Amino acid sequence: MQVEIGQTVAERFQRYVRFDTQSDEDSKTYPSTDRQKDFGIRLLDELKELGLNDANIDPYGYVTATLASNISRSAPTIGLVAHMDTSPDVSGKDVKPQVHKNYSGQDIILPGDSRQALRLSETPELKEQLGNDIITSDGTTLLGADDKSGIAEIMDALSYLTKHPEVEHGTIKVAFTPDEEVGAGVEHFDVRKFGAQFAYTMDGGNINEIENETFCADSVRITFRGVSFHPGHAKRKLINSVKLASAFLDQLPKNTDSPETTEEREGYVHPHSIQGGVEETVVKFIIRDFELEGLKKKEEYLRALADQTVKDYPRSSFSFEVEESYRNMRYVLDKNPELVEKAMKAVRIASLQPRLHSIRGGTDGAKLSYMGLPTPNLGTGMHNIHSKLEWISIQDMKKAVEVILNLVKVWAME
Ligand SMILES: [Zn+2]
Repeated sequence: MQVEIGQTVAERFQRYVRFDTQSDEDSKTYPSTDRQKDFGIRLLDELKELGLNDANIDPYGYVTATLASNISRSAPTIGLVAHMDTSPDVSGKDVKPQVHKNYSGQDIILPGDSRQALRLSETPELKEQLGNDIITSDGTTLLGADDKSGIAEIMDALSYLTKHPEVEHGTIKVAFTPDEEVGAGVEHFDVRKFGAQFAYTMDGGNINEIENETFCADSVRITFRGVSFHPGHAKRKLINSVKLASAFLDQLPKNTDSPETTEEREGYVHPHSIQGGVEETVVKFIIRDFELEGLKKKEEYLRALADQTVKDYPRSSFSFEVEESYRNMRYVLDKNPELVEKAMKAVRIASLQPRLHSIRGGTDGAKLSYMGLPTPNLGTGMHNIHSKLEWISIQDMKKAVEVILNLVKVWAME
């Protein structure tokens, strides 16, 4: 039986979002919640139904499968990856997907909570969706398009390929991972065993976007040390590290270099925690920049500022510790330029204008890239993620499937 591109994607998506797969930051188990495995087992069954023989779920909850190559010439083995969990920020229990057909620009009031409304005036991306069918939650939960849209799109693409043997492709490896939202999505992922040469995560926003960059990220811990004395007998003796730390923080730039004052490709230094007393005060930062050189400059700036500050307080001192968090995945992807080039081609064949996009954060793809599996991120069509106003259109999901299929074909070309 022949099927159309994207034929099963909306139905799959609405089925998948009903699984509660919220991950849990405070859990000590892996995966962080058992309910993710329940969903994994369902996906495993569906992969088997599609005829993917080696479909498997391992004790960590990773679901993997292989679609064998159908060409005799050699082609690279491609991975397709999406995550099963949803954000701990908003409930993902009892999600009731709502389809708003033929969107005509009106406000979409969500039926479960009338305070939750999608408005064209606040959501410019909706302008592109006139005439489309938009899926939201009922307003009491998130939708879970992040990342069940990615899973539904990969599953639909596999379903299409198994029913269209005339479409030529190399070996395709699939992985559905747990705990991405709690930063542990690839903690136990065995890149060697997975067996792909590179991969694409389906976990981005706009369907024409290819995300090839993340921040370079470090954390910095500055400990200011003063001298403690009984306040009644402290004249000319006591050095208050609380005042030292606040004098330091007060000199940070007010209108630049902060999360609240930057966007696009600008980095920042962000003090996110302060703790201490008279003798010792610890200030913790996260610092971000798209370039390693810029990151190092930000570190040197903080160190010099701390140095300058303690000079005004004799007998005070400070220590400065830097810990690496993650690095821009572009440094890996630049060594494999074909990955992004072919993705751009796949987007173009789907009649979309490809656009490179930088992620102001990290992704599993960035971690995988540094684990030896270069992995850019592609858009699934999801919007307003991690909120009750999360939405996606059926037409965008179908286009995303088309992009996956184009990608598979482009990589199999001679
Ligand atoms: Zn995601």
